[in-house]
Formats: sequence, C-alpha cells, structure tokens
Amino acid sequence: MKTSISATNWHLKPFSIWLFGASLALILLFFSFSSVLAQEPEGVRYVVRFGDTLSSIALRFDVSVNEIIQASDLSDPDNLAVGDVLIIPGIDWIDGTLVIEDLPLGESYLSIQRRYLLDDVSMVRLNRLTSPEQLYVGFPIMLATERGELADSARVAVGAGTSLLELAVASGDNPWALAAVNQLPGTWATVPGDVLFTPGTVAAGPGGIPSSVTSVSIEDPGFVQGKTLVINAITDGVVQLGGEFFGHELKFFPEGSGLVALAGIPLEAESGTFNFTLSGANPDGSAFEFSQPVRVASGGYDRETLTVDLQFLNPEQSAAETIEVNKLIVEATPTKLWSGYWGAPHPYIGVINSEYGVHRSYNRGVYESYHYGTDFGGGVGIEIWAPAPGKVVFAGALLLRGNATIIDHGWGVYTGYFHQSEILVAVGDRVETGQVIGLVGGTGRVSGAHLHWEVWVNGVAVEPMDWLARIYP
Ligand SMILES: [Zn+2]
Repeated sequence: MKTSISATNWHLKPFSIWLFGASLALILLFFSFSSVLAQEPEGVRYVVRFGDTLSSIALRFDVSVNEIIQASDLSDPDNLAVGDVLIIPGIDWIDGTLVIEDLPLGESYLSIQRRYLLDDVSMVRLNRLTSPEQLYVGFPIMLATERGELADSARVAVGAGTSLLELAVASGDNPWALAAVNQLPGTWATVPGDVLFTPGTVAAGPGGIPSSVTSVSIEDPGFVQGKTLVINAITDGVVQLGGEFFGHELKFFPEGSGLVALAGIPLEAESGTFNFTLSGANPDGSAFEFSQPVRVASGGYDRETLTVDLQFLNPEQSAAETIEVNKLIVEATPTKLWSGYWGAPHPYIGVINSEYGVHRSYNRGVYESYHYGTDFGGGVGIEIWAPAPGKVVFAGALLLRGNATIIDHGWGVYTGYFHQSEILVAVGDRVETGQVIGLVGGTGRVSGAHLHWEVWVNGVAVEPMDWLARIYP
C-alpha cells in the first residue's frame, strides 16, 4: 500500500475541519475496501540497529520471530548485522522505512512529526508514547523515513506578528502548502516562536529551534550526575543564546567559530528526568525558547559514614556558610583564563582519602549530605598548587571549611582549597599554574589533615578529577 494516511491528510488539511472530517471518513472507507481487495500486506522495512536481536524486534512490533524470518527471506537469522533491512509483516498503517535513532537535543514531538510527516496516531503507535515527557534527549525514537516530501526542507521561525502568508511569501512557498507540510489545521494556526519546515532545501540542525541556531550538541558523557556538561552551539548571524538547567542559567561564550556553555550536573540530580531549556533571540530580534526533558544518569557514587565532633553538626551554621561560599562562585567572568590541560593541585594526586560524590552520613545519621570535592591525603605542610591560571576571590578562615582559598578561572569555573594550615595568597592575586597557593592542614570540620579540593562549574560542584583528565572546553 503506497498511500499512507498521513501523506493523504496533508493534502486535505488546508481545508476546513468539516472537510477534513469528511475526508477522513472517505479515506477510512477507501482503506476498508482496499484491505479487502489488496493481497496479503508485505509489511514495512525496518533497519537493524546496534543492540537489536530478532526477538527484541519481534517483541517491539508484536509479531513472531518466524514471521520476520519468512517475510524478510532471511537465510542466516543468527547473523543479524547493523543496517540489515528486515520486512516486518502485518504493518499496513505506515509506509516507508522504519529506523530507530537517539533523539538529539533540540528536537520535539512537533519537530519530529513535521520533519517526517507523521500524524499523531503514527507517532504514538510507532513509539508507544504515553506522554511527551518521554521524548527526552537520547530517547530511542522510531521514525518512518524515505517517505519523500519533507526529507528535504528548511527550518523557518515564526516571528512575532508574522503571518504564515508573510512567511510563505518570504520563503517563496504557497501558504496552504506550508500549513499542510507542517500539519497545521489552517494558515491561521501559527504562534510566534513556532518553528516550521519549508519544502526545498535540507533541514539540518535542531528542528525545535529556529534556523538561526545551526547546530547544538552535548559532548560525552552527557547528562550524568556530578559531571561537567559541555554544550556546543553554532549560530547564524547575531543570536543571543542562553538557557537554563536545574535552576542555573546557562551562559554561552564565543570559542572558535561557535559558542560554548559549561554547566555542572548537580549531585542532587540523582537519576531522573529534568527540563533543559535553550532560549535566545533571532537576528530579526524575535525571541525563542525551547525546552526538552533530559535524563540524568546516576554517577554511581559510594556511601560512607563519618564521625565528627557534635559542635560541627549544626545544620544552620553549615547552611549559612554554604550560602556565603555560593555567593562567591556564581559570577561567570567572560574571559577564560586557562587553556589546555590543568596541572595537579597537590603533589600526591594518587592518594585520595575520600572521593567526590560520596553520599555521607555523619555520626550514623541519615545519608543527607554529599561530598562535593576530592580529599587528598598527606600531612600538614604539603604544598598546594594552583592547577590553572586564575584570580583569587576568597582567602580566609571559615568555621567548617577551615582556612579556605577560592580561585576564579573565568567562564563560571571556580576552584576551592579547604582545611589549609596556611594560606599563601590574598584576594585579588593573579595565580599561575603550579604556583604554591597554600599548605595542607587540618583546620575546620575534619577528622585529619587533608586537602579538600572543589571545582564549581556554573554554580555547581562537579567531579574535580575530570578537570585533570581532559581538556575543557
Ligand atoms: Zn572533603
């Protein structure tokens, strides 16, 4: 069957709802006749993806393994290769070739629907969707490709006060065709900020965001609890780009030919789904905002029980000190002061007393706090080195953190050095990689002398050792 419901619909949708309903009835009538007349349906094509097995595919489409083997005429069913094309029998409600792809950042239910000409029924049925929240970044979405019309198209944003007619004139399209390919019930049904597809050229890039954002991507390992998130974007023309994640505003900075934002995934974001928002302004001044759920994977951190002096277990004191520290690390200085790899903050970086991310209980209480830094062992008086160039924004004594130094490295990246026996820098000092900034000690809330080293990214304490293992951005 070559005529799909959705492909037929988009010719009819420009007309009134009444006509749409009447047409649908006709189509259904046609299909009930054609299914009687048609030969046994040959099924749809499905492209094998990494991790697929014949039984997992059979389960997904609710057919038997043998039916797939027969319909696909498989001579060697035990050797299924990625990219092999199978015939799934008995599926006559969608045509084209079915592939599963990991949903990229910047795509939404609507953008996928429009890009691949999928009606609601097909979208839901192909992907067993129960809620749009399921379409998180990386969701294995099934798409019907090779269906023609919208495989080649361009993205166009609906600006404030712009009608579909004006858009159509600007892009050289027929407004009815524009409404049809975008599955709009009429030419009036656009809202400012909506991103439509126009037939004609290739629609590369994120479909849920205006074409002034050419691409947006997340570097590995992506959304993992406690990790530093690197977001790369390429924009076309003067575009102000920003966003929000876990209550923190994303700040983009120019780097090379694109923009980069660094964000910390909080330890408190234990595995779960959270909203990731990108927003900005197009070259014409119109604003856009795009939100997509993302799934944060667990960092797999350990648990530990510590015994400390009761005088230090005052939650109010602890909270007050954290608020003071957080005030110091929130500003994103636009100049990035480091380049390349960072150096070690301590001579014995292999001697770690306590790792970042450990979920802690004090004096056998509940697991209510996390360890936000890495503890390096060694005795009082061992040198502490600046791992990267920066500017000292705090140098002084704190009740819990002891003698503390905080360095601003630019772009919202800060490092902290706690429990020192001696501080060797002052606020306002510019420090260089390898410079001795203090000495290890046992001041503040500690059970022994060590250096607690913390790295903040966009106001969030992240896994510090990552900053020694790779180059950011
Ligand atoms: Zn520590």
